[in-house]
Amino acid sequence: MSLLKGKTAIITGASKGIGKGIAEVFVKNGANLAFTYLSSVERGQALEKELKEHGTQVKGYRSDASKMEDAEDLVAQVIEDFGVIDIVVNNAGITKDTLLMRMTEEDFNRVIEVNLNSVFNMTKSVQRTFLKQRAGSIVNISSVVGVKGNAGQANYSASKAGIIGFTKSVALELGSRNIRCNAIAPGFIETEMTAVLDETTVSQWREGIPLKRGGSPEDVANACLFLASDLSNYISGQVLNVCGGMLT
Ligand code: NAP
Repeated sequence: MSLLKGKTAIITGASKGIGKGIAEVFVKNGANLAFTYLSSVERGQALEKELKEHGTQVKGYRSDASKMEDAEDLVAQVIEDFGVIDIVVNNAGITKDTLLMRMTEEDFNRVIEVNLNSVFNMTKSVQRTFLKQRAGSIVNISSVVGVKGNAGQANYSASKAGIIGFTKSVALELGSRNIRCNAIAPGFIETEMTAVLDETTVSQWREGIPLKRGGSPEDVANACLFLASDLSNYISGQVLNVCGGMLT
């Protein structure tokens, strides 16, 4: 398949997990790809090398998604390197899980900064480019817990619910300029983010999923491919749950 042939995409936080899965599916579909990482520098560099083997233009950038200045610099640099941006996938995210009783202000604010401010930072920074070209697709990675909440994740759930409100508002504001904005709400996806959970919690999650398994980064990446590509040209302002049937 080459659903993204000739298109240039930016993915934030692609050094591992879901972001890496999206990066792999995008280049296999012909995309030119700019991606970011923050702490996993070696993994980011190794990924750049690996992805280049597919024959499209690929470059990794060290950039902190929670900082507006970094987002602005990134967009300017990608325009210089690639000439164009057609797709932005806001994937970078962290957890700092704990019950509200123990959650510090710092735990709350950092999760909001990395998960939610990052989406604002990138969308704001790429807006002018998309408006000029009268085209663009933005895909924001939210979560099922942003839709339904989760005990022990008040900060994370708030950030992911915020992404949904932001996505719908941007879709309304920019739709007349042919700019689409959608969100994906993954369920339980087996990555390093979920590897920190104990085995009992993991089996409880799996048991509660109608498809009886955790999802893979590729499961999310395929949904992201659809929303990024022209196959979804008439879809905007939507939240696509990729959760094995957890949310109905
Ligand atoms: P992960 O394996 O922990 O990967 C997170 C990625 O985000 C890494 O590449 C990390 O890069 C990057 N990142 C973190 N902070 C960053 C920052 N400030 N600036 C730039 N990049 C940053 O997590 P994952 O499971 O793949 O999750 C990816 C996204 O899916 C997140 O938004 C997460 O909330 C969402 N999600 C995950 C699940 C799940 O079950 N796994 C479910 C629903 C939603 P470095 O390591 O280089 O810092």
